[in-house]
Amino acid sequence: MAQSIPLLLRIVASSVNVANRAGKIIRDIMSQGELGIVEKGKNDLQTEADRSAQRCIISSLSQQFPAVTIIGEEGSSTCEVPSDWLVTDSNQEVLKETCPKELQNVSEKDVVIWVDPLDGTSEYTQGLLDHVTVLIGIAVGDKAIGGVIHQPYYNYKEPEAVIGRTMWGIVGVGVGGFVPQPPPEGQRIITTTRSHSNEVVQAALDALQPDNVLRVGGAGHKVLLLLEGKAHAYVFASAGCKRWDTCAPEAVLVAAGGQLTDVHGHSYPYNSSTPHQNTAGVLATAPGQDHSWYLRRLPDAIRAMLT
Ligand code: AMP
Ligand code: MG
Ligand code: MG
Repeated sequence: MAQSIPLLLRIVASSVNVANRAGKIIRDIMSQGELGIVEKGKNDLQTEADRSAQRCIISSLSQQFPAVTIIGEEGSSTCEVPSDWLVTDSNQEVLKETCPKELQNVSEKDVVIWVDPLDGTSEYTQGLLDHVTVLIGIAVGDKAIGGVIHQPYYNYKEPEAVIGRTMWGIVGVGVGGFVPQPPPEGQRIITTTRSHSNEVVQAALDALQPDNVLRVGGAGHKVLLLLEGKAHAYVFASAGCKRWDTCAPEAVLVAAGGQLTDVHGHSYPYNSSTPHQNTAGVLATAPGQDHSWYLRRLPDAIRAMLT
């Protein structure tokens, strides 16, 4: 029975539950207080939560989908994991969706899963917990088709609220776990990095003359601001993001009617041999916004620096 459900739906449905489990690991490590911070590079941290969440995600998905290529931010993780980290169940709502015809016969060898086990690590270490997301992006060929964004600390300041939420999207199917909201009309609110800014990032923002700039952590969190109607565009004129930062957010955003490209308007390819670095920056716009307006307004000199 389960095997008659198209592979793409099964991967997204599993990824929803796997992301939830990873989120619990992230909360548990924070409450135990031993973050085990390692500096991977300049302005680039890794904690025990990044490592453990990735082991949970990769072990669970590779056990269920052995021929799928999985690329995780924290390198290859082949060691044993505790048995309660191995997720084997799936989200039933996703399994009930209808898969678009052209994606019904996708097989494991056509799929690449891009995993950012903890997006917003620097904010996590600084206690800005609602900036943190778990990102699982599913690409078919070059394209970001499915995405799961889990926010482990959603509502964590609300007494008695359920903590955490998981949003998913499949291009051509739609989104679940939340209801997208439009941003306010007659304003231009732009979200961007808070910990990786530089002169070029700032010059790009200035050229777009925003009414307000929201500087928050994480690519996942910034795309959520677009989907929640809190910002019109996410602009990052710098090379620091990687494919695992954008694959899941791009799929969820596109499934909701928005767009995510580089600063030239090109989509990043997500096949297994693509470079990892998003060298030409990120421009994402909320559903209903004019993506091409932002592309036109970015100065040529800035575009020329990001190739
Ligand atoms: P931010 O918007 O600064 O939170 O960045 C979004 C994602 O891109 C995070 O996963 C960051 O770690 C990554 N990123 C952005 N810029 C850089 C950079 N200069 N060095 C390392 N990682 C970066
Ligand atoms: Mg990240
Ligand atoms: Mg990360």
